[in-house]
Amino acid sequence: MNKRMYGLGSKRSVIREIFEYGKKRAQEVGSENVYDFSLGNPSVNPPQKVEDTLAELVKSENPTALHGYTSAQGDLSVRRAISEYIAKTHNVVCDPDYIYMTCGAAASLVISLSAVCDAGDEVITFAPYFTEYKVFAETAGAKLVALASDPDTFQIDFALLEQAIGPKTAAVLVNSPNNPSGVVYNEETVRKLSDLLNEKSERFGRRIYLITDEPYRELVYGGVKVPYLTAYYKHTLVCYSYSKSLSLPGERIGYIFVNPEAENAKELYLAVCGAGRAHGYVCAPSLFQKMIARCQGITSDISVYEKNRDLLLGALRKFGFSCVQPDGAFYLFVKSPEADANKFCEKARAYDLLLVPGDDFGCKGYVRIAYCVSEDMIRRSLPSFEKLAAEYKLQRG
Ligand code: PLP
Repeated sequence: MNKRMYGLGSKRSVIREIFEYGKKRAQEVGSENVYDFSLGNPSVNPPQKVEDTLAELVKSENPTALHGYTSAQGDLSVRRAISEYIAKTHNVVCDPDYIYMTCGAAASLVISLSAVCDAGDEVITFAPYFTEYKVFAETAGAKLVALASDPDTFQIDFALLEQAIGPKTAAVLVNSPNNPSGVVYNEETVRKLSDLLNEKSERFGRRIYLITDEPYRELVYGGVKVPYLTAYYKHTLVCYSYSKSLSLPGERIGYIFVNPEAENAKELYLAVCGAGRAHGYVCAPSLFQKMIARCQGITSDISVYEKNRDLLLGALRKFGFSCVQPDGAFYLFVKSPEADANKFCEKARAYDLLLVPGDDFGCKGYVRIAYCVSEDMIRRSLPSFEKLAAEYKLQRG
């Protein structure tokens, strides 16, 4: 058998491990006494319009056509609806023939990386980063090069990036709003990134593509804006997913948008189609494609996450924990009060607080706390966080 695949299949992710522990522990002490902050599963219902549209589609359409294959890259009328929405919302040129429907952001990423990388290429990303990036880059035959971010803001450290880009760099992969830090790249960061990628592409005589992983685009709070990268850097592939914005992670639906104004855009889009074909990611779920076409521009009730963030962040800072400003997604990335975040997580476990060490996100000394949980659970967990802070004698804020 294939050793790499065996390795990937036989080693469970740390997050899954903690989640499984939580289920076991809940049987021992009761689920109301376990505070599981491990998983990034949306805790808000999908919008009613999603349910209504699905019901309508199931009732009204020709079932054979509804559940049948679409074009490999997705149904044309669906791609048209998405393309119109992108053009109108982000004021960029878009075209249905540059949209590729996928099974969520994970598929979008594997396809995009496979489309732009040749064997031996490098893909640069910034820690902390989504744990699967390494797997996806390696599947594309590339090496993931993870750079530390600015420790105060978690924005890009441009001195490091400048040094890291070289002749093997095929792509830079960004994720804003970020899992796990919640940080959003501001316009200044995006402009600098775009300038640097243009300069380095010229210097090394190869176009460096920008791949942007955007499942959390709409999950931002306090009026923060998320710059649309295609508008700043032409050579961008947007990897979008409806998993979080519409609370549909199990339905596996998203898309890739290749900018028609990117260098070699036509060939790039064909490489995306080829990578989709090679990985068996053709014809994304048909029913959900058709629903998505009718539900552009809506989201689940994001205010629930904002309330959770404010409640938990406010309390943790009061207890003395420190945390970079999370403007989006639904995670807090809290500095561990001791150097080894794994040990901190063990101590937290004694209070039945289930947190994820930052090591797997390429960032030691931090823990991720997913606040896509019920407000009630957050409230009930606060005395435990307070005791944990007291154990470390943290200075109250
Ligand atoms: N990228 C990031 C940053 C994520 O957090 C996730 C899921 O949590 C994904 C990609 C995968 O998303 P999807 O469920 O749409 O495949």
